[in-house]
Amino acid sequence: MGRGRVEPSLESAKPVKDNSSMPLIDQYHRPVKDLRISVTDRCNYRCAYCMPLDEYTWIEKDEVLTFEEITRLATLFIQMGVEKIRLTGGEPLVRRDLEKLIAALSPLPGLKDLSLTTNGSFLAEKAAALRAAGLRRINVSLDTLNPERFRQITKRGDLEKVLAGIFAAHGAGLNPVKINAVIVRGLNDDEIVPLIEFCRTNGFSIRFIEYMDVGNANSWSLEKTVTKQEILQTINQHFPLREVGRMDGRAPAIDYQFLDGTGDIGIIGSVTEPFCATCTRARLTADGKLVTCLFAQEGHDLKSLMRRGATDQEICQVIRSTWTVRKDRYSDERWENLRSGAGYQPKDHRKIEMITLGG
Ligand code: SF4
Repeated sequence: MGRGRVEPSLESAKPVKDNSSMPLIDQYHRPVKDLRISVTDRCNYRCAYCMPLDEYTWIEKDEVLTFEEITRLATLFIQMGVEKIRLTGGEPLVRRDLEKLIAALSPLPGLKDLSLTTNGSFLAEKAAALRAAGLRRINVSLDTLNPERFRQITKRGDLEKVLAGIFAAHGAGLNPVKINAVIVRGLNDDEIVPLIEFCRTNGFSIRFIEYMDVGNANSWSLEKTVTKQEILQTINQHFPLREVGRMDGRAPAIDYQFLDGTGDIGIIGSVTEPFCATCTRARLTADGKLVTCLFAQEGHDLKSLMRRGATDQEICQVIRSTWTVRKDRYSDERWENLRSGAGYQPKDHRKIEMITLGG
């Protein structure tokens, strides 16, 4: 119910002028509705597609936003239209006492949805406390069910711990427990069906995400992307599906239900079916930079502003002036270039690293 496919239509959109009495919308009439907050850039894994091993400079501890600062900014973003907040990292559960932040955010008036994306490695210990603090649902990244491959991808991860975490989250009442799987040709494209069987058997949801060129660390090429259509085809051969559409018209995933009624999946066609036209996501890095696109080169420093004693009104003004000039449509442009044969080289576009930005 209430789900409809919204097709991108940026080409027909006309730029708008800022006016502080107007609702906060960007140059393509997109409101700010979702905020992804990275609570740390630290991670216990070293996945090659996320972590630029040699060059990365960690954010200094005292540059990381405190829970009070995050809560203050979250409150202001909600006042400006944000309805959903997702906590990310690095790995968010390496941040000590994260449940205290959940407890501060979950009752904020106007916040309709609070979620967390984790690699799952500390979830077995943390799931009950997160649930008790007010978290309702959770996403766990899991690209393989093969322990050796898992170790190869993460460099130091233990699949058993992640699986235990997923079951602990389910047992603690987090619902849905969603598995996020990035499918890379030649790496884990033989795991689409096993991952679905795992989720269907155990009552988890799953979202497949097309592999893309986030950050500067991964050696992405279009050939490595298993497309949404290929993923669908593979699934349909084993478990026939019907399309349901996008949740609330803005969600990146297109949802499908299995015809036998056992579960559902989502597929995010980040590369071949970009959704910039409905992108209402702002991002906050662990050191307090407001970033308006996953592929941005830089952010706008809200932390320094706060620490210099800015009032709420002054911070809101900077958020407003950043969002109202937003013209980001990176994925649309990448796909246009790829489709037209104009070519696209990820290395020509320097971006904020995924471990800083939280994906
Ligand atoms: S490329 Fe940028 S604007 Fe487009 S959907 Fe992704 S984050 Fe949003």
